[in-house]
Amino acid sequence: MPKKYHIETKRIPPRLPKTGKFGIVDWREDCARCHNCVKKACVFDRYRQEMQFIRDLEEFSSMFFECMGCFSCVQKCTKGLLALTVNPEYERMGNGYYTPDIILTTWNQAETAGIPVSGAGYRGRFTGAGFDSMWTDMSEIVRPTRDGIHGREYISTAVDIGRKPGVLSFDDNGLATVLPPLVDVPVPVLIDMFPAEYRFPNLLPMLLTVARRTGTMMIVDWEEHELLGTYRTKYLSNIIFYVGKDAPLPPPEVLAKSRLIEIADGGDVEERIGRIKAVNPNLVVAVRVELDSRGEERSMELALSPVVEVIHIVSDINGNQIGVETPKFIKDMTRHIHTSLVKEGVRDEITIIAGGGIALAEHMAKEIICGADAVTINMPLLIGLECRLCSSCRDGFDCPVGIESITDEYGVGRMTNLIAVWHDQLIEVMGAMGMREARRLRGETGRALFFEDIEEETFGRLFGKRISA
Ligand code: SF4
Ligand code: SF4
Repeated sequence: MPKKYHIETKRIPPRLPKTGKFGIVDWREDCARCHNCVKKACVFDRYRQEMQFIRDLEEFSSMFFECMGCFSCVQKCTKGLLALTVNPEYERMGNGYYTPDIILTTWNQAETAGIPVSGAGYRGRFTGAGFDSMWTDMSEIVRPTRDGIHGREYISTAVDIGRKPGVLSFDDNGLATVLPPLVDVPVPVLIDMFPAEYRFPNLLPMLLTVARRTGTMMIVDWEEHELLGTYRTKYLSNIIFYVGKDAPLPPPEVLAKSRLIEIADGGDVEERIGRIKAVNPNLVVAVRVELDSRGEERSMELALSPVVEVIHIVSDINGNQIGVETPKFIKDMTRHIHTSLVKEGVRDEITIIAGGGIALAEHMAKEIICGADAVTINMPLLIGLECRLCSSCRDGFDCPVGIESITDEYGVGRMTNLIAVWHDQLIEVMGAMGMREARRLRGETGRALFFEDIEEETFGRLFGKRISA
């Protein structure tokens, strides 16, 4: 049996007090000093931790907001002195798409590498915008996939990136088809470049080390290759150099040793691919397509070209179509591209990588179900480093959490933990869907339910088609 894919993790504590959601307001004036005070019964031991927090306090501006909101002490206090409160600072975090809940769970996952467990049932809404209008069908668990979750069987999360032949032909000597080059990654998540306003040069070598440790790859703008220093040659097999529209190609010695390269879309894409292949025919070339008003159509055009191997479709960081008034969401655009290519009969020949708006592990699984072979991420890794998406860096101010001065051990450890726990969650969700192969999950919409479809089936006959979301 081949060696199982496994990522080593260890707990990396936060550097700063956590901006948690709930705190307890304790009106001590009327306290009856009960010998069996409800505070002692907190199953999460939060009152004792709070006392320690206050003893160790360095900044008077920080408060303890680590309560899990179970209401046990609030309901049981004989004098009704305890009240649950929501941290206003917590509610201000994020940017609308990256909600405070997403940020907090990402911090916890990057710290512990543990799968988040909300406990006491799901307390959120059952549908919403974006990925929240889609549910995975977790009723298909079967023995081999259940055992896969527990490590007794193997659930493969590996994917192949490159062009695949539509048919295989054989002659008397065996396989006659010349197989195109493929890059295999053990987990369907690659690290993308950060938007210019969130780029921290000190993170580049750390991200590359994370790519190396997790066996995945990282896209680096060729114009920034000097920031990699000695890492460039050491970790070249984990680097995907991105070459902008008017930027020159990397020198032949770099092309000759690379496995995957990404070029910006443009009128001369086929000619540039030809130039790259002339240097290294085994180098897989991806074309980066921005999902603007023409993005879907352009992706479909490119997919029909016999020289295009991989298309990397990219929305904005919130998963929205770029530069349009009423943007479509990444999952809907991916689904449209995927189903159109299935109808054209070419879907299996091309690899589609999708990026933008993948904020949680479940989004990765849902995006693959919608038709992507793999996804790219960037912002969740930054959030894993305790970023609050306050946008100070975007606006040219200092980062309040000091991303520029983090240590390698902290940065690499937390980002590795995050990819490891996303991998674990992908296995959980695939196991529950009865899937043993991430390759087979692609486009498997039979294992998902879409709110729009259910609404139409249920109410469409009565009220007609929904005209606005
Ligand atoms: S509400 Fe629950 S978690 Fe929070 S302090 Fe009280 S008992 Fe502990
Ligand atoms: S916390 Fe730092 S990295 Fe995150 S958005 Fe704010 S300034 Fe930028």
